[in-house]
Amino acid sequence: MNIKEKDSLYIANTYGRFNVEIVKGKGSLLYDENGKEYIDMCTGIAVNTLGVADEGWINAVTEQLGKVQHVSNLYYSAPQAELAELLCKRTGMKKVFFGNSGAEANECAIKVARKYAAENKGAEYNTIITLINSFHGRTVTTLAATGQEVFHKDFLPLTKGFKYAVANDIESVKALVAEGGVAAIMVEPVQGEGGVMPLTKEFCEELQKLAEAQDILLIADEVQTGNGRTGALYGYMKLGFKPDIVSTAKGLAGGLPMGACLMNEKTAGVLTAGTHGSTFGGNPIAAAGALYVINSLTDELLADVTKKSEYIFSALEGKAGIKSVSGMGLMIGIETEKDAGEVIAKCIENGVIPLKAKNKVRLLPALNIPMELLEKAVAVILEAAV
Ligand SMILES: *Cc1c(COP(=O)(O)O)cnc(C)c1O
Repeated sequence: MNIKEKDSLYIANTYGRFNVEIVKGKGSLLYDENGKEYIDMCTGIAVNTLGVADEGWINAVTEQLGKVQHVSNLYYSAPQAELAELLCKRTGMKKVFFGNSGAEANECAIKVARKYAAENKGAEYNTIITLINSFHGRTVTTLAATGQEVFHKDFLPLTKGFKYAVANDIESVKALVAEGGVAAIMVEPVQGEGGVMPLTKEFCEELQKLAEAQDILLIADEVQTGNGRTGALYGYMKLGFKPDIVSTAKGLAGGLPMGACLMNEKTAGVLTAGTHGSTFGGNPIAAAGALYVINSLTDELLADVTKKSEYIFSALEGKAGIKSVSGMGLMIGIETEKDAGEVIAKCIENGVIPLKAKNKVRLLPALNIPMELLEKAVAVILEAAV
């Protein structure tokens, strides 16, 4: 049996895979089992922040690998403490809890919000408002947080206490707040899986006012938008609001599984010994990778992300076969006249690997993708769209 046959036989059927086996890569280039080269416009869904096999990242990770691969969270470990300090210094947040995925980072955010509200407002304040078309994860609770019914069916009953408002419609949020018992409002600065739709600054400003007036916590789900993706360290910085809790994962450790939940002065004291935990969370290898990634996200690199984003928008907008372009930074959704799946298949055939989000072609390239490769990829996408 070849790998594709083994995969179909032995791996749970949860993914509709493209007919490509990735065997290696370098930077923003990937190679399949036949040696065919692709420009990577997906980065493992916004995970390989600095591309594949970045030398500095490999050095940071292998140096730690030679020391110790894992320590229990019952002991101190330097990479984890250094990373938490770096994240707090660069965001102004006060404390960090480390997990291993986006769903876990959101689980932590939800636990913190509920405990904060129970202690400060009363146990009946346990509702979390999220947005329609959001995506917050696949666990039973983060599925409940996800405002898309397609993900809910088959797994009912889900965790109680979630209500869904309309993105960029403050009145719909206010109406749910008026029903009472709200602990927190949780939003993605740019809805990723929901079709690469950014929130507006006005909406975020109104959310902030509403949250402050009623002591409701604001949670930013930065699992996909975080770690430089939008051209700011975190997406909320670009939109100009101040969350009480930030969850992140995907690109944080540059390709290793890591999630983090950041808490501000208001929420930093909520979790106490025994209230939450993770065996692998803050793993030293992942933390070493994340330290390297976050330290690489300089003002210069972030400004480059914005420049590359502007290039993509201007190269695609108004072109034949392109209906609209949405997104922020290097997180871009392209609405095509042709079916997005068809456009993606054509791109893959022609050596470019994009991704899908709803009915759009989604781009999530490495933040350091060289301009020449980006130009080549855009040309292939334009050709595939007509
Ligand atoms: C991917 C994603 C998640 C889930 O992350 P996992 O690591 O797959 O658990 C949660 N929220 C957002 C916004 C995401 O894009």
